[in-house]
Amino acid sequence: MSDASELPKKEEKEEEVTPEPEEQSDDSSGEEAAGETEMDFLRNLFSSTLGLGSADKVLDELTLDAVARYIKSGKCESLFAVTAGIPDFRSPGTGLYANLRKYDLPYPEAIFQIDYFKKHPEPFFALAKELYPGQFKPTICHYFMKLLKDKGHLRRCYTQNIDTLERVAGLEGEDLIEAHGTFYTSHCVSFCCRKEYNLDWMKDKIFSDDIPRCDKCNSLVKPDIVFFGENLPVRFFTSMKMDFPCCDLLIVMGTSLQVQPFAGLVGRVSKSCPRLLINMEKAGQADPLFGLLGFGGGMDFDSDKAYRDVAHISTCDEGCLALAELLGWKVHTVC
Ligand SMILES: [Zn+2]
Repeated sequence: MSDASELPKKEEKEEEVTPEPEEQSDDSSGEEAAGETEMDFLRNLFSSTLGLGSADKVLDELTLDAVARYIKSGKCESLFAVTAGIPDFRSPGTGLYANLRKYDLPYPEAIFQIDYFKKHPEPFFALAKELYPGQFKPTICHYFMKLLKDKGHLRRCYTQNIDTLERVAGLEGEDLIEAHGTFYTSHCVSFCCRKEYNLDWMKDKIFSDDIPRCDKCNSLVKPDIVFFGENLPVRFFTSMKMDFPCCDLLIVMGTSLQVQPFAGLVGRVSKSCPRLLINMEKAGQADPLFGLLGFGGGMDFDSDKAYRDVAHISTCDEGCLALAELLGWKVHTVC
């Protein structure tokens, strides 16, 4: 199931992400999985080098129509969406950082740095008021994902967004992996306490310009978004291992697939799994050098060997609307 690209990707992931407690606790199954990965790697290397075997070709052509036919065929039971869409709050150059001058930060990223936040929480909460979830509304692509769920296709949505719009559109906690966390819940930052607070509580504090403090221990309370210096949620790693091998169709929306470990998700589906990218530009293509060495896994939309990756160049909303039309579905933009 795993493909050859897992080996280099795995190394990248381990460099960037502090190992999760869950990752360490299942040592034996981890070793087994690593063994299987190596076997898969060798199998794929031999088959690609010697031209032996090939992955099943699921789409009859690399177009949005073919993806729609596949969804309608009844063979696509387990669909995953990987989304960003809203400018990633952690990426420089999104316009957000230009907006931060007024907060007198030592450097712009400090506003999302956990150590800085613990000493100077004021700038973050001032920005949170400005960008508060609810200031934005779900768009067609959020409601399209809800529609995929209602039609019984959506297995999980992996999102980098922190604005809770997937939830506003009607997806539930079980449907979502919020890889960069969410404003939906908040916790006391004290490791001994960790008391949870809900969205209404946090909203009250933010809009009354109060720095939120724990009513049990008086430590700061922080929305559960992932700051620099914090690990991604454990659930991201555990679900990723369980989910992706069973994926029948991967839809990637509104992301340039540059930030690990999120970007590596596209390489975790089986070799037969079609992948649809809806984005303003092509993204996630394999490094040509890796390709020459026999490592696959990146997106391949255009080469002679392309067989499963479809790029639809548009906004997320236009792409979802086009796909919904081909499916004969109507997207309801009110939940
Ligand atoms: Zn506390």
